[in-house]
Amino acid sequence: MSLETDTQENRRVGKVYLVGAGPSDVELITVKGKRLLEEADVIVYDRLVGNGILMWGGRNARYIDVGKRSGHHPIPQDEINQILVREARKGQRVVRLKGGDPLVFGRGGEEAAVLEQAGIPFEIVPGITSAIGVPSYLGIPVTHRDLASSVHIVTAHKKDGSLPDIHYRSLAEGGGTIVFLMGVSTLGNVMEGLLREGMSPDMPAAVLERGTTAAQRKIVGTVGTIAGKAARAKVQSPAIILVGYVAAFQAMDWYESRPLAGRKILVTRPRERGSRLAAMLRGEGAEVLELPTIRIEPVTEKEPLSRALAGLETFSWIVFTSPSGVRVFREELKKRRQDARSLAHLRIAAIGEGTAGELEAWGFYPDLIPEQYDGDHLGEALAASVQAGERVLIPRARAGNQELVRRLEEAGARVLDLPIYDTEYESFPWMDCEREFETGNCWAMFTSASTVRGFVRTAGELDLSKVTALCIGEMTAGEAKRAGMRTFTAARATLRDLVDLALQMAAEEREDGEGQSNPDGEK
Ligand code: SAH
Repeated sequence: MSLETDTQENRRVGKVYLVGAGPSDVELITVKGKRLLEEADVIVYDRLVGNGILMWGGRNARYIDVGKRSGHHPIPQDEINQILVREARKGQRVVRLKGGDPLVFGRGGEEAAVLEQAGIPFEIVPGITSAIGVPSYLGIPVTHRDLASSVHIVTAHKKDGSLPDIHYRSLAEGGGTIVFLMGVSTLGNVMEGLLREGMSPDMPAAVLERGTTAAQRKIVGTVGTIAGKAARAKVQSPAIILVGYVAAFQAMDWYESRPLAGRKILVTRPRERGSRLAAMLRGEGAEVLELPTIRIEPVTEKEPLSRALAGLETFSWIVFTSPSGVRVFREELKKRRQDARSLAHLRIAAIGEGTAGELEAWGFYPDLIPEQYDGDHLGEALAASVQAGERVLIPRARAGNQELVRRLEEAGARVLDLPIYDTEYESFPWMDCEREFETGNCWAMFTSASTVRGFVRTAGELDLSKVTALCIGEMTAGEAKRAGMRTFTAARATLRDLVDLALQMAAEEREDGEGQSNPDGEK
């Protein structure tokens, strides 16, 4: 394909954004980068970019993985360039997402030059480079008034895969912090190079692996010992190598000291509801991967719904069994230009706190919430409150808990069980669950049986017996158990209780782990 400018095509040419994704933590992308991902038509990414960050992309975006190794070779740079040009010429808004900063050993400069030559408009969005961000997360300041007054960022890998030609003498004499990228396989050679040019074998050195993730590790040694230590610890890419006095800095273990540090937790709630739980967990130090395995879709056959909404005055009670139910119901009213006054005469029941919260946000304070937040207890509480002959409207998901209806009918109520939404499963073709959870022992949080089913469908080959499920409610826990997961249930059906369960489990694991010594005192 020619990269020459084509004036005709250019009239509807798109744009390419070279965006830095940061070192890995999904919250370390810039606000601008996140917005562009949300707006992108096409997202071109490679292996350094975690699945979590891809989740910021829109539902309808097209994902192109250019890091996938076909027979061990990543897609050649020429081909990547052509993809960017081709997609932009189709009028697409393309985000070329790169780990760290796009211009720090990220070939962003090469891609920008190609785009310029082809007459494709582009923008560059800087990112936090791993060279600086990863040390921060492992408690190492790359500069320090007493220890280092410069930082040198060096590639330890050559374009053609051979040994890099590093100017060891200037590095050895420079006295600053040296950060080597792409150096796992050449670590031994690089340290030898420094020693040869007179660097002291006692100079502190550290290897920082998978920085800014729950699996991050710090291996500390000296220029003389670090290669051996890293080999024993089986360090893998991505990792950076730090040489200089700051590598022995020991004062800021902030990341590991948080209650859920080292925990990677999957949150499976629908997209619009997941973020609060994710924020609570991140606040406690967990790495959270949001994987909204289900999606709420309002039903398409509107006739029964329209009839019920037109006859609201014939009902005495309205019962909500999920926050999504409240939201969809509210939308449907709005579509018909019916306002909140059409509900003024109704008594309102909510299954639990989350649903009540959604109602309160709308300006309704429910008349009834059961002691325990499930369908059976809701039915029981309602049966004690409704009068015989009263009509009860339950707008909810299709095929909801029948026990609720049965108890109400036994109490003499006339129930309209009205399906207003369906739960659809989401698929994530680019999601690699096995890679995300290769370290094993991952936790997943489930707030409904359907989120469990959705996860099982997305999990692919992942060994589910390695998954620890933290669940809201017995029905959810039952589904997770059937799928083979190690299952725990929150004390009450609230997000707070779910987070508390995680905190308690992490604290117990920490206690059990204490006393077991770590071979080299590393981490
Ligand atoms: N543009 C990127 C660097 C790309 S080169 C940036 O600015 O960070 C790839 C190298 O970056 C890896 O070999 C590794 O040395 C480093 N790297 C990237 N992410 C990392 C992470 N999360 N932890 C440790 N090193 C990382």
